[in-house]
Amino acid sequence: VFITFEGGEGAGKSTQVARLARALAPHRTVTTTREPGGSVRAEEIRTALLAGIAKPYGPFAEALLFSAARIDHLDRLVRPALASGEVVLCDRFMDSTRAYQGAAGGLDAIAVAALERVVVGPTRPDLTLVFDLDPEIGLARARARAAGQRASQEASQEASQAGQGAPDRFEAEDLAFHRRLRDAFRAIAEAEPMRCVLVDAAQDPDAVAQAVRRAVAARLPD
Ligand code: C5P
Repeated sequence: VFITFEGGEGAGKSTQVARLARALAPHRTVTTTREPGGSVRAEEIRTALLAGIAKPYGPFAEALLFSAARIDHLDRLVRPALASGEVVLCDRFMDSTRAYQGAAGGLDAIAVAALERVVVGPTRPDLTLVFDLDPEIGLARARARAAGQRASQEASQEASQAGQGAPDRFEAEDLAFHRRLRDAFRAIAEAEPMRCVLVDAAQDPDAVAQAVRRAVAARLPD
């Protein structure tokens, strides 16, 4: 069973991936992963992307870089885990490409759909939890988290890693971009109600976790 978590910045996806994994672990073999990343090579591409490698190129080349990471991640981790009957929880997947590079980034829908067809193919999520949040709240959360990380790195005087210190997407783009993102994710959830469940991410984390578990229980075959 393939479950993906989608949404804008600071929506609390990563926290909820970990919570759902803990809730399922007594009954199921669970693999948690993320995009961009999730395999050794895809994590290398993630580091480059977060350092801004795609910036000079525009959304099509950016989507190709995300796709290169996705191909490796699917082949090495996601498909083998699904084939052995595991539950795979993935923090971001193809809907992030539709929303970030497509709707918000300006890449036309035909290119996005073509990439999805060749890269994702039949490996489509059984369930997608779309975390919906006012971007002003999400950006404030994301900034607070980044400030906390920087403070703890300074306190421990860790060596700076590649990509660290580069402006992340939530800092680099304006509010209008993040509003387009939110609209795009909501539109995806509305267009594919069989696959997607919209989750109100403004609730407290316990309430979000409950909504996630309800959605999963309704879809997970025993
Ligand atoms: O979810 P997470 O914050 O780890 O994502 C890493 C970064 O990659 C974010 O800043 C997100 O905005 C960006 N991203 C993107 N396009 C995607 C997926 C993620 O720009 N398709």
